[in-house]
Amino acid sequence: MASQVTFIGAGNMASAIFGGMIDSGYPREAITATSPSDDHLAPLRRRYGIHTQTDNRAAVANADVVVLAVKPQIMQDVCSDLRDTIQARKPLIVSVAAGLPAATLERWLGGDLAVIRCMPNTPSLVGAGAAGLFANARVTDDQRKLATTLLQAVGLVEWVEDEALLEAVTAIAGSAPAYFFLVFEALEAAGERLGLPADSARRLALQTAYGAARMAQQSDHAPAQLKRNVMSPGGTTERAVHVLEDAGLRQIFLDATDACAKRAREMA
Ligand code: NAP
Repeated sequence: MASQVTFIGAGNMASAIFGGMIDSGYPREAITATSPSDDHLAPLRRRYGIHTQTDNRAAVANADVVVLAVKPQIMQDVCSDLRDTIQARKPLIVSVAAGLPAATLERWLGGDLAVIRCMPNTPSLVGAGAAGLFANARVTDDQRKLATTLLQAVGLVEWVEDEALLEAVTAIAGSAPAYFFLVFEALEAAGERLGLPADSARRLALQTAYGAARMAQQSDHAPAQLKRNVMSPGGTTERAVHVLEDAGLRQIFLDATDACAKRAREMA
């Protein structure tokens, strides 16, 4: 029988995950989601056929897995309210909240709990996410497998064995969609400057990014080799790549990701 999974919070991230789980064949009747307002839950019931609850405690009473998917600012209050019910049942806790350490969540929920912390990114909303997962010492192998199955429904899952490495995951995946959006913006503006209509430049830039990512995923070669393969000596690509290299693009990415990881540490 499928594990009973309760989502505390039924917003963007929770609905992306349970929507993905259902699309991958997870039984909808084993999924419950909560929100303070039934006005918010009614459309989710209709769309996904899941159980819903406005009472968080009732929703976790029979849960095998509790996914904490509320905003970090209200997490402590939500956990304090759930503490007794969670202690009576001791389900696996999975948190997708940015910046809250597993030990803090475990303490807020009364201690002695298996906690998995997940750092997802926004492309999860379209089933193409990339998430880093960390498990505390109480998480069993079966629980890891279960969490992998649940979160793979919205994209790639990479486990880290040191929680501090979630800061690195934040720097190169959690926050990174914005870096690519910036590049798309810049390429669109460049295309326009060279005479293309803006919408055409945008479509070309996005499709090229998608194609490059798919090609790199499917290829046996590392990105460095793929880059060399398209740089004919004296050609157009070589000229452009040299300008990017000479302008210090690699160092810019090192500086940006250092700043991101540092901010993640400050916020933890
Ligand atoms: P969201 O769309 O605002 O969803 C939060 C949900 O929590 C809403 O459905 C809200 O209901 C509900 N809620 C508020 N108070 C509650 C309570 N006391 N009990 C149960 N539910 C309650 O936010 P989100 O973007 O999904 O973010 C959720 C978590 O995911 C955050 O911790 C965030 O750090 C993490 N995250 C999100 C992303 C992302 O791409 N969105 C990426 C990485 C991490 P009402 O709307 O009715 O108030």
